[in-house]
Amino acid sequence: MDRILVSACLLGRPVRYDGTHKSSNDALLDLWHKQGRLVSICPEVMAGFPTPRPPAETESGKSAEMVHAGLAKIFEDNGNEVTGQFLRGAEIALNIAEENDCRFAILTDGSPSCGSTYVYDGTFDGGQIKGIGVVTHLLRGNNIAVFSETALSELAKLIKN
Ligand code: SF4
Repeated sequence: MDRILVSACLLGRPVRYDGTHKSSNDALLDLWHKQGRLVSICPEVMAGFPTPRPPAETESGKSAEMVHAGLAKIFEDNGNEVTGQFLRGAEIALNIAEENDCRFAILTDGSPSCGSTYVYDGTFDGGQIKGIGVVTHLLRGNNIAVFSETALSELAKLIKN
């Protein structure tokens, strides 16, 4: 059976930085959950962050690729640098995906960890830019296809068993 790594907050777990979840009512996600395909992760919690926690963004003008290359940092809105913890969360997510033979992932868009089409622009003013999070970058670099919660129909075409 194809197994799918999935952001815990999409499954209703209140693990987001502000203590909320982003529970999805998508019928496909519900079906895959009932089929036992889903492997739930929250990279930030698994890296040791508390919930709630301060919001964090990659510094302006920099990418997840640059974070992994040591050329960019991630900061909380109070100025605390948390790059190392975010990279640790990405490594944990990759390890869990590999242990569970996940070739696919559904991750919550917009997050500096889990984003797959957009992220916030580093100003903490709510501005969004095209980009991905550090978990998505690492998974895609290891041949795991990452989809946002709004692209489940695309993933459904690839699920074979
Ligand atoms: Fe959800 Fe990912 Fe943020 Fe955890 S790190 S709360 S799974 S978006």
